[in-house]
Amino acid sequence: MNATATVTTINPASRKAIAKAIREANNNFDKMTAAQKRVAIAKDVIAQLGKEKYNAESGTYLQLDESLPSNKKQQLIDIFADPEMPTCTVCARGAMFCSAVRKFNDCTVGNVNGSDASNLVSSNFQKYERKFFSYKQVSLIESAFEVEPFGCYSSRQGKYDWDTGETKWSGVPEPQFPESADFKQTNYCDAGCPHCFESSTKKGKHGDFAHILSIVNQLHSGTELAIGGGNPLDHPFLMEILEAIKSRGVIANLTVNSKHLSHYGDLIDKLRQEKLVWGLGISYNKDYVADILEMMDKNTVIHIIAGVDSPMDILRLPKESKLLVLGYKEHGFGIKYAKNRPVQECLNEWRYWIGTIMRKFHTSFDNLGIKQLNIQSLLSPEVWNSHYMGDDGAFTMFLDAVTETYAVTSTKERMPIGTATLSEMFSRVRKLMSDATHSRLPLPLTVLH
Ligand code: SF4
Repeated sequence: MNATATVTTINPASRKAIAKAIREANNNFDKMTAAQKRVAIAKDVIAQLGKEKYNAESGTYLQLDESLPSNKKQQLIDIFADPEMPTCTVCARGAMFCSAVRKFNDCTVGNVNGSDASNLVSSNFQKYERKFFSYKQVSLIESAFEVEPFGCYSSRQGKYDWDTGETKWSGVPEPQFPESADFKQTNYCDAGCPHCFESSTKKGKHGDFAHILSIVNQLHSGTELAIGGGNPLDHPFLMEILEAIKSRGVIANLTVNSKHLSHYGDLIDKLRQEKLVWGLGISYNKDYVADILEMMDKNTVIHIIAGVDSPMDILRLPKESKLLVLGYKEHGFGIKYAKNRPVQECLNEWRYWIGTIMRKFHTSFDNLGIKQLNIQSLLSPEVWNSHYMGDDGAFTMFLDAVTETYAVTSTKERMPIGTATLSEMFSRVRKLMSDATHSRLPLPLTVLH
């Protein structure tokens, strides 16, 4: 959504007179039903487009020129309803906002004027829009008019050919081993996050090195391993583990919390330089944004938890940021956290803003996030089919080297590894997934990146 307005030359006296006339003309608007108001707003959008007062363009939610009046109490209707109003550049939602302002006198300069004039994002937009549109209606409008493919990562599906040693990317895939796996190598962590679904603390144990090696030595070249914890950087055999992973041609991606960046920044740089780590996932925390930005490169993805992190804070990140939006896991400490904190309200905010976030950022989701935020409903079948990467367990699995267990995902039942090989574990994971599908049990959906 993008609305750029320049308001510098209009005589204040004539503006006041014009605005008064417009308010009077719009008196009927107050008496309309909610549906009639929405239609009136939509008609005004079309009229302004016709008059070339709105210039349609996808972009950030709303950008206002810095020359907006400094009086924070001034009503925006005085600006947007003025016939002398300069052209606004708007996307679908920005257009709705501007036309709603033109019809209703309850939004001030102070409501929308943030500290960064080039990228205004205010929770008041949301409050204001909700006078007229539900979040579902906003989502429908966005998906109808902002139809270009979202910045999600491309999908791929494949089948390993044991004769040639190659992966063929066609047909229905029946992988013999996971294409990627989440790998918990420690339960130690000193960050103390109240929502930690792994319940990691300073008392958490590290995974046994010999056991970790036995798993790593079964991985196939090209497999992606998302290494996490706890704080994986705290494992005493971190370097040895990463060396073993690299020597097998496995792609190591590391997930760390932004709280740890200042302490471990040099170590992370070293791991990157030595190509021991390819991708870096950084768990977002609004108090550590500067550290996150300092660590960003093209292989860095910021991990966000819907239900914990505020979408308004996320919208303030630079548009070059790559995001992985994770669903809220009511698991571990996350159970108590959900009882004491407004997780559902935060998820509702996410549902409201997710379209805007997807357009601004290169965005991916885990399957829980897809489900909780109803992402499929925002996409055309073509976009969905070309981006969705499959159900959990179809190509992925979870390995816990601390408890020596494995599962479909980190929030599903964990089964003892015992003497099972990686292929046997993965086969079991796929069977569980298949059984759940056929018995129509609710399955979490997967990663869209
Ligand atoms: S969420 Fe991550 S950083 Fe926070 S306590 Fe748990 S493992 Fe540590």
